[in-house]
Amino acid sequence: MLSIWARNIAPSPTLAVDAKAKALRAEGRDVCGFGAGEPDFDTPAFIKAACARALDEGRTKYAPTAGVPALRRAIADSYNARGFAVSENQVVVSPGGKMSCYLAILATVSPGDEVIIPAPFWVSYPEMVKLAGGVPRFVPAEDSAGFKITPGQLRAAITPRTRLLVLNSPSNPTGAVYTEPELRALVGVALEAGLFVLSDEIYEQLVYDGQAACHPALFGGEAAGRVITVSGFAKTYSMTGWRLGTLVASREVASAVADLQSQTTSNVTTFAQHGALAVFEQPALARAAVAEMLAHFDRRRLSLLAGLNAIGGVRCYRSQGAFYLFPNIGAFGLGSDEFCARLLDEELVAAVPGSAFGAEGYVRLSYATADATIEKGLERLARFCGRLRR
Ligand code: GLU
Repeated sequence: MLSIWARNIAPSPTLAVDAKAKALRAEGRDVCGFGAGEPDFDTPAFIKAACARALDEGRTKYAPTAGVPALRRAIADSYNARGFAVSENQVVVSPGGKMSCYLAILATVSPGDEVIIPAPFWVSYPEMVKLAGGVPRFVPAEDSAGFKITPGQLRAAITPRTRLLVLNSPSNPTGAVYTEPELRALVGVALEAGLFVLSDEIYEQLVYDGQAACHPALFGGEAAGRVITVSGFAKTYSMTGWRLGTLVASREVASAVADLQSQTTSNVTTFAQHGALAVFEQPALARAAVAEMLAHFDRRRLSLLAGLNAIGGVRCYRSQGAFYLFPNIGAFGLGSDEFCARLLDEELVAAVPGSAFGAEGYVRLSYATADATIEKGLERLARFCGRLRR
């Protein structure tokens, strides 16, 4: 028999939907993919050129486990320019933001410890907690509350076994963005109870409607020592396949994370890290690339939102961050798994069921996809929903 870890782990539903959509496409089927959160743009040319140069220069050997020194320094500098006071020893570069989150959990959670996760949540947090022997405790972030939890809800969920609070603003899957006062209040409650806070800020640059993401690690007092800030290059620079996540934490946590990494993955691909360094060495190009992608995402967000809310029975919250919309499909009387399975089967539209995110009655649509796909996908979705209503 396989181990309890192997028996208890479910494959990532976001990646599973994406794999299915890509396989159908490879068979020549005309699939509209709203599955995985993967920008459809190519990685900006200046980043690819820096990576190619690094390969030509022979940067193909092991690098220090926690990251190429110049990249760690550049990441620390970039946080310090935003008010942090961290040294490069507090930065760890990992194979993807997903691994950064997992290592942060492994570094702080012991078997039996409880971890508070607002629901809807990104699919991998609970599984990572379970792999660490921890116990996920979900706090519902209601649609009517803008998919946000309150300090009162958080306080009520804390027990003597609670060790960690997971925050993810902008949120995957809802696109909700906490305001700074809202986050301050939540982080205050967590710190008062002596918790660590994992702040997954992978979508920090993807915010709309004049909102701005903020960094809980800057909230003063214990925050600098207890908040673990995770981000990465994938979503901002369309570098999903490069696997480049970043983590900034206290020296103690960062060095534990580096030790865990040294016994598992070792360093992120050396020449990929040199490609990422271009983001800091050529900031004007980096800013322009982000601004251009953001403009496309914002336009797509608004057209998908309008299209969804025009479909009878569908109700969708106006997300302010990331690149997801999370419409309510409860009116159709189908579970979200069945809704998505039939939508793919009957209309070749790929979406991720809300059940995967701990939110039955919803589906997640990623708008990090072409405008034409959004238009066609909406037509198909409207036809599908129309059939369900008859
Ligand atoms: N994070 C993205 C998503 O939620 C990529 C897939 C994954 O790692 O979950 O779609």
